[in-house]
Amino acid sequence: MGAPETFTATTDVGHYIGGRIVAGASGRQQPVWNPSTGRVARQVALASADEVAAAVASAKAAQPAWGDMPPIRRARVLNAFLQLMGQHRDTLAAMITAEHGKVFSDAQGEVTRGIDIVEFACGIPQLLKGDFTDQVSTDIDNWTLRQPLGVVAGITPFNFPCMVPCWMFPVALACGNAFILKPSERDPSPSLFMADLLKQAGLPDGVFNVVQGDKVAVDALLVHPDVRAISFVGSTPIAQTIYETGARHGKRVQALGGAKNHLVVMPDADIDQAVDGLIGAGYGSAGERCMAISVAVLVGDIGDRIVPRLAERAKALKIKDPMAADAEMGPIVTPQAKERIEGYIDLGVKEGAELVVDGRGCKVPGLEGGFFTGGTLFDHVRPSMRIYREEIFGPVLSCVRVKDLAEAVQLVNAHEFGNGAACYTSDGHVAREFARRVQIGMVGINVPIPVPMAWHGFGGWKRSLFGDMHAYGEEGVRFYTRQKSVMQRWPQTIAKGAEFAMPTSK
Ligand code: NAD
Repeated sequence: MGAPETFTATTDVGHYIGGRIVAGASGRQQPVWNPSTGRVARQVALASADEVAAAVASAKAAQPAWGDMPPIRRARVLNAFLQLMGQHRDTLAAMITAEHGKVFSDAQGEVTRGIDIVEFACGIPQLLKGDFTDQVSTDIDNWTLRQPLGVVAGITPFNFPCMVPCWMFPVALACGNAFILKPSERDPSPSLFMADLLKQAGLPDGVFNVVQGDKVAVDALLVHPDVRAISFVGSTPIAQTIYETGARHGKRVQALGGAKNHLVVMPDADIDQAVDGLIGAGYGSAGERCMAISVAVLVGDIGDRIVPRLAERAKALKIKDPMAADAEMGPIVTPQAKERIEGYIDLGVKEGAELVVDGRGCKVPGLEGGFFTGGTLFDHVRPSMRIYREEIFGPVLSCVRVKDLAEAVQLVNAHEFGNGAACYTSDGHVAREFARRVQIGMVGINVPIPVPMAWHGFGGWKRSLFGDMHAYGEEGVRFYTRQKSVMQRWPQTIAKGAEFAMPTSK
């Protein structure tokens, strides 16, 4: 196989409404960077409330026919989309790398995990089956069914421009809803590419729309009376606002927020596996993953044994053009994000943590303008420090030393976030205790990034998720549908007159 083709389009990014690309009309736009070179690659339109209203109107007009279509026929459209996503996986991955900066193999993995959800959604006829009770009362049957909500919207973060939208729209569409995607303005191109593939797959115009934009577009979606549900993934302060505002406007909301994921290394862990786990999960995607490991909790004497090994590996990370076949880490998404991350490294030094490996000022030959920050390692970080408490969202791994499992679990549980956590150990009892005691939504035992598969559902606890239901899986099907109960009688005798007491089984 030849080298993957780099995504070099300079075309400005517009919206996708009613089955076609529509140029921005608000007069507002924002640059999209190529973070590897540090140059502006294209502009993205930022929608006004009127443009959002046009997308909602298009979705509202298209939804009834789509929602009425038998689920197996909707599944066939998704099946065609699944095939197209598979055929164009590398094109999508190259687009992601060009705008986000993650290495190409990682972008391929992202697309594959998105495709998994499409495949799950193809099983919608089975997933929408209701419950039926024959003869709940004499001559009466009762059943429950699930019906689509109508028009629903998804607001997604920059760090997974393909996979996170795929947590939402395949399930929402399969359930019979029309969908409006508001992707991140930092890497907007994959959204339009997927919209085109959906059209090629046979999705009727208007059922899937994309509005590019910022707070203006999000605020318009949050208050629009025809938007029935909002799925959000992003940082915690915005997630909380989305949840509160959406709920105030009568919408169903699931809002997934930020994280600070701990990986506990017990003294009996296989140290080679623990080093691999920490390096891959700490520095993969330059730490810009909501399931990245940003805290290593080192129990007992493992700390003195593992920190020198982590330092050696962090210094040797292959940071280069993310399209290079052997690249392990690419640039940070924007200059502002790089500045924020390096500001946290300055802060860690001021707070008294031991800076073992310093990634500030990283330069990649030939890409001197790129937004690169090297892998950074802090040791002897304390829970009171801001670099421990706050989400840095970059390639910065903080080591905290504790004496035993109980102290490790206490540390994990005291943190405000509860997205993911992992424990490396060779003791089954320790593993079981850890999994049962941590107040965390997704747990890994000797697995550093335990992102659940498509049919299990994704979601954190505490301030990592606002709302009741996790993304995708059966929780996703429940989120995008509402239950209806039908009770039916076909009387053969003359009516006996109205009954005023609560009906009971007779
Ligand atoms: P972000 O919160 O800045 O943006 C997310 C979305 O919200 C974007 O579409 C953006 O346009 C919009 N937005 C930004 N500011 C807004 C405002 N003031 N009002 C309304 N909308 C606004 O997040 P990000 O930087 O794109 O992504 C990184 C964050 O997302 C991290 O905190 C990460 O942990 C989190 N994340 C969480 C999960 C999860 O599953 N829990 C998954 C991926 C990312």
